[in-house]
Amino acid sequence: MQTLLLIEDEAAIADTILYALRTEGFAVEWFRLGHEGLARLRQGGVDLVVLDVGLPDANGFELCKVLRGFSQVPLIFLTARADEIDRIVGLEIGGDDYVTKPFSPRELAARIKVILKRRVPSAGPSPVEAPATTRHGFEQSPARAEIRLDGQPLPLTRYEYLILQLLLAHPGRVWSRAQIMDQVWDTPEASFERAVDTHIKTLRAKLRAVRDAELIRTHRGLGYSLTVDG
Ligand code: CA
Repeated sequence: MQTLLLIEDEAAIADTILYALRTEGFAVEWFRLGHEGLARLRQGGVDLVVLDVGLPDANGFELCKVLRGFSQVPLIFLTARADEIDRIVGLEIGGDDYVTKPFSPRELAARIKVILKRRVPSAGPSPVEAPATTRHGFEQSPARAEIRLDGQPLPLTRYEYLILQLLLAHPGRVWSRAQIMDQVWDTPEASFERAVDTHIKTLRAKLRAVRDAELIRTHRGLGYSLTVDG
């Protein structure tokens, strides 16, 4: 059984979500406060987080930033505001999806299932651990969902990891934003191409911190590729 964590301060909303998700066969733990949920997440063993942006003790986006410092667990934001700023910010800082209130619990359950189906393999020993492959100074360990550059592990968010994995699989190939979105995002239609640019930007900064070179090339009007002659 998969364990979900719900961090939501409004009891009426939490009740509805708990009922819907438990009916779908998930084990759901509910916390009203951000710091309580975070403490629980530090213990591990959670498959996905549903996080309300407006909590009494913390802003959900700030909470997500802290969470991404130690965990890549998939995360869906619950947001009361429908404006694009919120959505983009949520994706920028490592959220996997967002649901705008009011929402149907069934829609939330459906999105959770999509994300869980396509999630990155979790950390820890795997019975058939694929060997790490090395290419252009990058070393990939799929079973650990880890990529190293010149021997240093890269502190990647979930989307940075998935984008880099895609680029590494086809060095030199140019990917348009729409193609990247299609290959990497769980629900491309709910996202924005600008989110790709944002993740590419933070990914570049992390690569540059290890190697002083431009490893991802921008092809104006076309997209991005991994630089192979570097
Ligand atoms: Ca709230």
